[in-house]
Amino acid sequence: MRRALVWLRRDLRLADNPALHAAIGAGYAPILAYIHAPEEDAPWQPGAATKWWLHHSLAALTGGIEKLGGRLLLRAGHSAAALDALIADTGATAVYWNRLYEPATRERDTVIKANLKSRGIDAQSFAGHLLSEPFSIKTGAGEPYRVFTPYWRNLSQRIDSSAPLPAPRELPGIAAHSLALDALALLPSIRWDSGFSERFTPGETGANEALEFFCESALESYANGRDLPDRHGTSRLSPHLHFGEISPRAIVHRLLAHAAPAAKLVAEPYLRELGWRDFGHHLLFHFPHLHDQPMQPAFQAFPWAEVDAGKLRAWQRGQTGIPIIDAGMRELWQTGWMHNRVRMIVASFLTKNLRYHWLHGARWFWDTLLDADLANNTQGWQWTAGCGADAAPYFRVFNPVAQGERFDPLGVYVKRFVPELKQLSPKVIHQPWSVGGVSGYPKALVDLKLTRESALAAFAQMRASLLEPNATAQTRPSD
Ligand SMILES: Cc1cc2nc3c(=O)[nH]c(=O)nc-3n(C[C@H](O)[C@H](O)[C@H](O)COP(=O)(O)OP(=O)(O)OC[C@H]3O[C@@H](n4cnc5c(N)ncnc54)[C@H](O)[C@@H]3O)c2cc1C
Repeated sequence: MRRALVWLRRDLRLADNPALHAAIGAGYAPILAYIHAPEEDAPWQPGAATKWWLHHSLAALTGGIEKLGGRLLLRAGHSAAALDALIADTGATAVYWNRLYEPATRERDTVIKANLKSRGIDAQSFAGHLLSEPFSIKTGAGEPYRVFTPYWRNLSQRIDSSAPLPAPRELPGIAAHSLALDALALLPSIRWDSGFSERFTPGETGANEALEFFCESALESYANGRDLPDRHGTSRLSPHLHFGEISPRAIVHRLLAHAAPAAKLVAEPYLRELGWRDFGHHLLFHFPHLHDQPMQPAFQAFPWAEVDAGKLRAWQRGQTGIPIIDAGMRELWQTGWMHNRVRMIVASFLTKNLRYHWLHGARWFWDTLLDADLANNTQGWQWTAGCGADAAPYFRVFNPVAQGERFDPLGVYVKRFVPELKQLSPKVIHQPWSVGGVSGYPKALVDLKLTRESALAAFAQMRASLLEPNATAQTRPSD
């Protein structure tokens, strides 16, 4: 039987996998392979937390494939060379994969596809990572969207809610060289990851269980519950989605089936968030410089503050003395994930109260988030910093005390991650300085009111500098 390599990348699943399904449909025996080539993602090579996830996801996938009689071939090195070696070792005459849309990956894949085709290999790629491919949605004028609402109006009309493609019932065995998973050295040498597995189970089964749990426990109340960090009110599917352990189509199908007959109404707020995920990819596809340049060019002239290493570290480690910020940053460090509302609050604090360039925050998130995703992380940071497409205006500085009081009114979330404050009543927990501070908990790193004022002054300075003919651009921070 003719063989096809199914080149798995961030589609670590067997169900609803268009490339795998197409290979089988075309009459090939599918040989599943994963190539570890982190340097090809430069300058955004996978961070420590996502490498942990990848290790466990590959382990789960290996188990799933072996149950069906097959094998996952693991290789490392340059993708093009590794594919050539796999073709030589397996006798495959086709290579199928699902498309990804980050700038570096697209460039690489285009070259690989042309090269394979020129050698008579049946090279084909498929859509399966998003609700809709970034190039398939355009404004009436044929331009990419820059504003979410009209983008969503367009996308929401095209969402495919058909049943996901089935997983294969069996897979062929193959005698070819495969690296041991440990040889990829994905697990951290300093074991800071113990909290990750308490909250997450990487792999396709874990993804489906998380979706099921969400549908049963939180979908109906998601519209309001999604803003409250003290509870499990969101799906926590983001790392599963990043690694493609579940497809957006499978989620849509499950949501609409669950919520019938008021299906669309109940599911809409959640689908809209998946829409933001697509929007982030749409923006990065059409504006590939966004990963380190602002969408709004005016922000090239923004007077970011010089970084004080001690303050940056206090933010990273949840030692700012501002309870909701510290709870969020400790949640991130301990669990590899942070609630979306709190991500916005901590990002606003870094880019506005501390006035540090958003890339300092994006890089820390990149290393510590299990769901670190170039499109979503870039969009989240630029949105909060005020320099992104359709962003919160820079002058909207989140007040962490007011945000805490509104979204964590009883202080349950803060107490979970900042046990030093356990004795405080809900009335004062978001501003411990109002009771003279708490022993063992740091004093507030900054004066929130004064730093807000200087952020606004810096914003005014940027706007004024744009009117000056010789305004010079600020450089970006280096590592
Ligand atoms: C500063 C900042 C950085 C962020 N970095 C990332 C990142 O690296 N990776 C990442 O996946 N998300 C990122 N987000 C978006 C969002 O915080 C997470 O997707 C969300 O918290 C994941 O939790 P969940 O799966 O429970 O979300 P749910 O509320 O259950 O949403 C379902 C899915 O929709 C998508 N989604 C939800 N909210 C957003 C959003 N605001 N933007 C884009 N997609 C969204 C995610 O894929 C998510 O899994 C960031 C947000 C901010 C403000």
